[in-house]
Amino acid sequence: MFRISPRRSLLLVLVAFTFAAFAVVMLANHSWNGYHWARQSNPFNVKMGNNVGSLWQTALTNASADWSQSTVLNTTIVAGGTRPKNCRPTSGQDEICSARYGNTGWLGLAQIWLTTGSHIAQGVVKLNDYYFSPGSQYDTASWRALVTCQEIGHTLGLDHQDTNFDNPNLGTCMDYTSNPDGPPANTSPNKHDYDELVTIYTHLDSFTSVGQTIKVNGRAYESLEARPASTIGCWRFAAPKTSLSLVLACLRRFA
Ligand SMILES: [Zn+2]
Ligand SMILES: [Zn+2]
Repeated sequence: MFRISPRRSLLLVLVAFTFAAFAVVMLANHSWNGYHWARQSNPFNVKMGNNVGSLWQTALTNASADWSQSTVLNTTIVAGGTRPKNCRPTSGQDEICSARYGNTGWLGLAQIWLTTGSHIAQGVVKLNDYYFSPGSQYDTASWRALVTCQEIGHTLGLDHQDTNFDNPNLGTCMDYTSNPDGPPANTSPNKHDYDELVTIYTHLDSFTSVGQTIKVNGRAYESLEARPASTIGCWRFAAPKTSLSLVLACLRRFA
């Protein structure tokens, strides 16, 4: 017969409690600061300008289809409106771009600009070919899927569910991982992402920003973080290239 001492059982209870608390914290809410597209009815449609190279087309198609499974929104891929290297925004929609943006420290990056309040006026996703060159560790379908899905998710108003690279996958592209294949794979949204979108978009607005030519709030640029610096995209760097200065640059970006 196996008995555990009282002290040990107390420890186990504490451990179990800690894990339970963790699970709640991870799943409670992952809205990105309440940022969302303004619209007067659901479901609404977010156009995604296609400015990505051939190696990204499948990831973009799949990510668009995945996010469109949301009950509150759809995404449609449209002709690109910018040169990929510049990746300039188009009012009322996303532009999705791939190019060699250099040794920046990020695999992918999402940028949004706000109009009044927390309402998104336009969004941009940059997928950094610098780290996805043929034969590199990220040159896989699942890495491309993870990054594309996650950055688009940010432009819809979602934050990460979890930012620990080394714990088990949650089965969502909004979860940092060192192994997107899992299992479970972190290459598509999960139910919690769709639930969070419903939470974010349950209220209706008195005006529409999505699909509209809408003024970016210049003042907000200064004080409400309605600027490209409102950016999430601080990925683990390619391990051999990790340097202290890169890590510091990445941390400073979000300080
Ligand atoms: Zn609103
Ligand atoms: Zn992210």
